[in-house]
Amino acid sequence: MTADEFRRHGHDLVDWVADYWESVGSLPVRPSDPPGAVAARLPAGPPSEGDGFAGLRADLDEVVLPGMTHWQHPGFFAYFPANTSGPSVLGDLVGAGLGVQGMLWATGPAATEVETVMLDWLAELLDLPARFRSTSTGGGVIQDSASSAALVATLAGLHRAGGGAWRSSGIGGTRYTVFTSTQGHSSIEKAARIAGIGDAGVRQVEVDPATLAMRPSALRAALAADVAAGARPAVVVATIGTTSTTAVDPLSEIGRICQEFGVWLHVDAAYAGAAAVCPELRWSHAGLEHADSYCFDPHKWLLTGFDCDAFWVADREALVAALTVMPEYLRNVATESGAVIDYRDWGVPLGRRFRSLKLWFVLRWYGAAGLRAHIRSGVSLAQRFAAHVAADDRFEIAAPHPFSLVCFRLKAGDAASEALLDRVNATGRFYLTHTRVNGAYVLRLAVGAPQTAESHVDEAWSALATAATEILAEG
Ligand code: PLP
Repeated sequence: MTADEFRRHGHDLVDWVADYWESVGSLPVRPSDPPGAVAARLPAGPPSEGDGFAGLRADLDEVVLPGMTHWQHPGFFAYFPANTSGPSVLGDLVGAGLGVQGMLWATGPAATEVETVMLDWLAELLDLPARFRSTSTGGGVIQDSASSAALVATLAGLHRAGGGAWRSSGIGGTRYTVFTSTQGHSSIEKAARIAGIGDAGVRQVEVDPATLAMRPSALRAALAADVAAGARPAVVVATIGTTSTTAVDPLSEIGRICQEFGVWLHVDAAYAGAAAVCPELRWSHAGLEHADSYCFDPHKWLLTGFDCDAFWVADREALVAALTVMPEYLRNVATESGAVIDYRDWGVPLGRRFRSLKLWFVLRWYGAAGLRAHIRSGVSLAQRFAAHVAADDRFEIAAPHPFSLVCFRLKAGDAASEALLDRVNATGRFYLTHTRVNGAYVLRLAVGAPQTAESHVDEAWSALATAATEILAEG
């Protein structure tokens, strides 16, 4: 493809994306085709000769769009949001065009240094503890996901707990253990499996049934029991904004307990971390100064396209010591000078793309004020929805809702609540998901798609209220 051809097709596809954003609200939020329908619309094999881009736009419309779950749809209230935005897409475009592989500072000085500075900017925006900054003992790095951040934190925790023995011999006969609450994300168990600890080494600490936050006394008891039994606690993962209900674990008390036991404390704020750009929501991060590592996903709620997890450590040397391996072919003068960061030592993959460009573009475009406005809009829309629920005595709110997720159910019970979810999702105008809270079936409405406005939340409520009337009448 020549530069001119690229320019022509590129402009055309930028138009296609802009048109998509303008029209996404009028599409069904989820596809109705059965599994296999998209694959069936594709040719059986690759073209033997390049066929250019003739018909590509039409194929996108006819093959891809009908098979899309539209995460940018204003009626998308499922899971947690996965935001994107113009500046984020343009940043990714430039990064792809530069095609740099920034595994070492030497292979990508700009990729490395922009990433370091963007993570420092983000730390400032969220008012993270000073030791997470690259100008102090720590620093930030972009991981692909909060799941990878949990894995990296687990490896750093293992290195701290096992020292040289873990690095040279692995888990060996030592029974390492990992602690999180019963509400901790499944990626923590997955990280334990990948790290060789296994499901049997994961301790799910009980939560307070009202707040769904980890009980510090239960954590202390679980740690003490493991130590007494000869196991070696490696990492505690506390959560700011659990996946089910956005519960916030009490970091100050958890942090003090981790210090007592010498255990690595990782804080997973995958979704709710973005809220800390707003000073009035920073209460959720109280006690973060005790953490050894912390992550949140700008790709969830901060207008930055997937994938972008921001991960910080308080002591970068502890992380690098756990992960670094230096083969001859990667030796270079800059690394040996000790004056540079080589991000290959801060995560699992060696190769790294220039993901910080999209963060830079997003931060420049929106500034602190624009990002705060986005978070505040999500919170206020969720509170508006919660007020609708609270005012209807057929419904009940199932958990505290300080951010942009509301968990609620029909008082009539699990079967009626499940029927309600099915009926509202069948309209194609909205997409909500569910969870269980203290055993009860609960609907989740998570606000966060950039185009969601009051009208969409009100429309979702009115569809829910109408469906509730029908379901309760049907008995
Ligand atoms: N941690 C929490 C609290 C989450 O809510 C999620 C996803 O929703 C994750 C981790 C996993 O996020 P990722 O998809 O970035 O791995």
